[in-house]
Amino acid sequence: MSTRQLERLRNIGIIAHVDAGKTTFTERVLFAGGETHDIGNVDKANTKTDSGIQEKEKGITISSAAVSINWNDSQINIIDTPGHIDFHVEVHRSLRVLDGAVVVFDSVAGVEPQSESNWRLADQYGVPRIALVNKMDRIGADFENVITMIENRLNANPVAIQLPIGSEQDFQGVIDLISMKAIVWKDDSSMDFCVTEIPKELEACSVEFREYLEEQLVELDDEIMLDWLANKPIDNQELQALLRKATLTGYCVPVMCASAFKNKGVQPVLDAIVNYLPSPLDVNVIEATNTSDDTPVKVVADSKEPVSALAFKVVNDDHGSLTYIRVYSGTLNIGEKLLNVSNGKVERIGRIYQMQATERIVRREVYAGEIVALVGLKNTSTGDSLCSMDRPLLLERIEIPKSVIDMVVEAKSHEDEVKLSQAIGKMLKEDPSLKMHINNVGQTVLSGLGELHLEIVVDKLKTDFDVLVQVGQPQVAYKESLTESCDVVYKHKKQGGGPGQFAVVHLSFYPTDDDEIGFENLIVGASIPKEYIPGIEKGIREAAQVGVIAGYPCGGFRAILTDGETHENDSSVIAFQIAAKEAFKKAAVQMKPVLMEPMMKVEVVTPPDYVGDCIGDLSKRRGSVSGQAMQSSSVVISASVPLSSMFGYIGDLRSLTAGRASFSMTLQNYAEVPEGLKDKIIGGQ
Ligand code: GDP
Repeated sequence: MSTRQLERLRNIGIIAHVDAGKTTFTERVLFAGGETHDIGNVDKANTKTDSGIQEKEKGITISSAAVSINWNDSQINIIDTPGHIDFHVEVHRSLRVLDGAVVVFDSVAGVEPQSESNWRLADQYGVPRIALVNKMDRIGADFENVITMIENRLNANPVAIQLPIGSEQDFQGVIDLISMKAIVWKDDSSMDFCVTEIPKELEACSVEFREYLEEQLVELDDEIMLDWLANKPIDNQELQALLRKATLTGYCVPVMCASAFKNKGVQPVLDAIVNYLPSPLDVNVIEATNTSDDTPVKVVADSKEPVSALAFKVVNDDHGSLTYIRVYSGTLNIGEKLLNVSNGKVERIGRIYQMQATERIVRREVYAGEIVALVGLKNTSTGDSLCSMDRPLLLERIEIPKSVIDMVVEAKSHEDEVKLSQAIGKMLKEDPSLKMHINNVGQTVLSGLGELHLEIVVDKLKTDFDVLVQVGQPQVAYKESLTESCDVVYKHKKQGGGPGQFAVVHLSFYPTDDDEIGFENLIVGASIPKEYIPGIEKGIREAAQVGVIAGYPCGGFRAILTDGETHENDSSVIAFQIAAKEAFKKAAVQMKPVLMEPMMKVEVVTPPDYVGDCIGDLSKRRGSVSGQAMQSSSVVISASVPLSSMFGYIGDLRSLTAGRASFSMTLQNYAEVPEGLKDKIIGGQ
């Protein structure tokens, strides 16, 4: 891809609170870009980006589907991201690989909890954005109020680059504050518009907003500022260039308005994506590590460099496994071999597709900056780095939120058992926030980010993989941790008829601050040959899956192998694995094990009248309130609450506040379960 083509490429995410209208907006974008012939409608479940069956039934966008369109001599790749917090990991993934975002707000609700948490994530990843106030046709639509909320709740500098013409059922179009023209859509059913003069009654207001826009932007250029102060008019192209600079640097966020549902306001957003959001060339160089010598490398979007790419999503469908990648440097050709630096395996690139919603365009080569899907990769999971064989580059991994809810799943028949384990294997590769373990009574337990996350997983097992399963109630994903150090020696010896088993391990265990499991081999002599060591680590990790208090996974310790003994005939990897397993069990009971529960960071947004009731209710749930802040006319209560007392909270909050409050929650940390409750949890096993 030439530099000029790269300059005209946009990798964009659409992020928002659930129901703000992302899916509807994306559909209209596809229509405007000429990619679909019928306008999709989420209420009729025929949209292109929400193509999974579960997504259609639930009417929410779960997976980030990559969609491309051509617009004004540019290519726009759009990733439709989910707004529900249970699918937070999807937002992380897409922000990691995208260069810019359109944040969609509901014109009535304004900044909602999830738009806020997604906005903060976009801040964290340094993603420039445009704000779109959608649903301008709704009763109670208030464009200026949403701008105030963006300023107050998100600490941003929103600057209107459009004004609505009419609102609620009279919403007809927008005033473009750059060209100072009115854009009016002919009717609700088509996307045809005409450009005319600003209506008389809106002239004064438009001039006022244009002046504010200029005042904000001239700050970025001393020369233009001096001219402006001397009352010299600013040329529109100059203003656009300033706005581009201001958006890319995060100095301000341009605000636009639309009614995606009524087909109004979509095309100007596409123009703005091209005009103000970054191309891959505008994005900061990506930091990576050359794993051959551990040196830091700056990856630049240059098609002549060796290939480096990040696998940001793996999807299984009827045609096999599709791996979405973002190419950061180089040119990738069909038939080429790439190294998966994350696991050392080599992958051959069979087919490359550019995803046009549910259609696929075959590509023979792809260039730095592009997002495409590869078919048939065998050993690549979400978050892995792929690169040319001669330059092993490890890109920064995607941050995966921890799972907090467990659910037992059981196959209904023996035949389903095999299908179940295959299906789970595939789903674990697709979704890094999904975890699986076998509990102390041998049941398969899936762990996810929330009740909805696991509900979707179970639906998928039934519909996509055709497995008949029985599921238990969602449960809190408790963990076990160890608080004291301990040295153990364990001898595993079995001798009798056939070949014997012999292994002795000397292990020291130490508690750590995180919830990981560390392993280190300090043996210098030949007391245990090298080939048996991986078995020892495996044995410890396997044993720790089932903690000694109540069978919950145990973490937060480091195991150090200090010595051992081997028998020349009877020792084997398996013998050492068993010895290590038993050594862990012996150590864990002596290391003062504790039961840990997930504590959630909860934010409740409520009208002031209900603050007392909400706080009282949170305290009853063992919550501790850490703050209260006024935001517009609502109060935001921040609290830390154990997840175990948050089941059914949404319904309780509704009845407590006549449906007027909303809340969001994310994992804060794991904390020790109070003594009095521990027995109840263990007893409930
Ligand atoms: P998402 O969850 O953000 O993807 O939102 P959807 O696109 O699924 O829309 C949620 C609901 O809002 C659906 O019932 C849409 O028909 C409706 N909706 C979307 N855009 C608009 C709009 O511009 N005006 C109105 N009145 N409703 C809209």
